[in-house]
Amino acid sequence: MPTCPNCSSEKTVKNGHIHHGKQRFKCHECGRQFVENPQKIVIDQDKRELIDRLLLEKISLAGIARAAQVSERWLQTGS
Ligand SMILES: [Zn+2]
Repeated sequence: MPTCPNCSSEKTVKNGHIHHGKQRFKCHECGRQFVENPQKIVIDQDKRELIDRLLLEKISLAGIARAAQVSERWLQTGS
């Protein structure tokens, strides 16, 4: 089970699904409902290779993010 994004408790339980079929969880400690990794972005291999090439060109992260249509955060953290 994922930890609660609100109180970091590990006492979370499955609590149905949201509209796209993602698993929803509820925290037993604080009652918060949340979806695990709601912003999870799947980047396919072609796009990763494109991004690797763009990074070598010393283009700004903002420019790469726009060109490859990924978030700057993903470029920085990979998630
Ligand atoms: Zn909690």
